[in-house]
Amino acid sequence: MSNYISFSKIDDCGLERKNIDLPEFSELEVVRYFTNLSRKNWGVDVGFYPLGSCTMKYNPKVNDFIAEKFRDFHPFLDDNQPILELLKELENKIAYLVGLDRVSLLPAAGAHGEYTALLIAKKYFSTKNESRDTVLVPDSAHGTNPASASMAGFKVITIKSNSQGQIDIEDLKNKINSNVAVFMITNPNTLGIYEKKIEEIIQICKEYGALTYYDGANFNAIIGKLRPGDMGFDMVHLNLHKTFSTPHGSGGPGAGPIAVRNFLAKFLPIPLISYDGNRYYLNFDLPETIGMIRDFWGNFGVLIRALAYTLSYGKEISKVSEFAVLNANYLRKLIKEYFIDPYDQDFCAHEFVLSASNYKEKGIRAMDIAKRMLDYNIHPPTVYFPLIVEEALMIEPTETEDINTLDYFAEVVRSILRESEVNPSLLKEAPFNTPVGRINEAFASREPKPTRKSLTQ
Ligand SMILES: *Cc1c(COP(=O)(O)O)cnc(C)c1O
Repeated sequence: MSNYISFSKIDDCGLERKNIDLPEFSELEVVRYFTNLSRKNWGVDVGFYPLGSCTMKYNPKVNDFIAEKFRDFHPFLDDNQPILELLKELENKIAYLVGLDRVSLLPAAGAHGEYTALLIAKKYFSTKNESRDTVLVPDSAHGTNPASASMAGFKVITIKSNSQGQIDIEDLKNKINSNVAVFMITNPNTLGIYEKKIEEIIQICKEYGALTYYDGANFNAIIGKLRPGDMGFDMVHLNLHKTFSTPHGSGGPGAGPIAVRNFLAKFLPIPLISYDGNRYYLNFDLPETIGMIRDFWGNFGVLIRALAYTLSYGKEISKVSEFAVLNANYLRKLIKEYFIDPYDQDFCAHEFVLSASNYKEKGIRAMDIAKRMLDYNIHPPTVYFPLIVEEALMIEPTETEDINTLDYFAEVVRSILRESEVNPSLLKEAPFNTPVGRINEAFASREPKPTRKSLTQ
């Protein structure tokens, strides 16, 4: 067992620091500990990670390298011009890519961006003396949409999808009224289907004076090709940890910048990066701001990676969406015959959803197929989401996978389905090759019991 060193000291500010027990180990012990720990984990560096909605793609290591160079910059630097200039450049690039006017880089995740934008909507209507209390969200939406709306104090009303997996316009017309503050939507939606009537949908919302919000988590499907601003949206968030090159998992780290039209800019959170004709500065003087949602520069390392990523692509950035969509369509064609295709579209966008309900009668569930993939060195796709598809398998290959990996995935699907005929217990008990087998995931996340183990165990 290790030695623990205890210390107590008076720091430079004259404050006494409490005793803490820090374990002491040799370098070799620490290296082995973390190496072994990392091997227990799954990452995109280990194998294919087609987790729909989450966009677990390979991100160039060079962007990590660049972000690391900025590690020592502190927000209280005497001269933060170069930093603010870089952040302004990223803001401009985001504004251009989404087709809106003003950007805040501060929100620390997609959900945080949603929440920030909804607070802006709230402030906007309250300055107009309108007491709108409702947010409309499609039934295919990511769970953060209704959650953010309700955290911001709105009532949530769900809009149905039609048999094409798109907004049911009649349902929208029945539910919209002058109490609706915001209509939130992801496009392409979480079924990987582009809303063909998006302009009509936005027009309907505008007729009732509602704001429209674009959840940009699926931006890798359209980047460089289409812009939410041109579709008519008033507000957008992007998940820089999905489309823009920050490796993520288990909730962080991320950044969810928002972009808005000019008429909403005065409500943006402070500080805003402003320019006085000579210098950039952090502008706290915004009388109608919603206030602070995060301090200083936001999640700076993530922002630097995103800037490096957009600069490295330049005008070629539409290649990202071209390959994301091509890969998803290729893989969908390879495997869709084995499952039920809930919407039977000719093409999908950057991801697709199939239903494994045709195996349910034999006792095989989507979860069993997904878990068995781990034994073939593939991370399971998203399962049981979106909620409107029974036994959903939601697959997003991303733009960074090559054709061999996609072919291998299809081969694995075929072998697992063969196993389900001859030896279904392989599916029921899988995975066998991972450090832990099946866990009760809901229980593990709702009642976590973190424990500290000895490094040398
Ligand atoms: C990931 C995701 C979000 C939430 O983003 P976070 O950064 O995880 O908070 C919202 N909507 C969709 C469609 C997503 O895929």
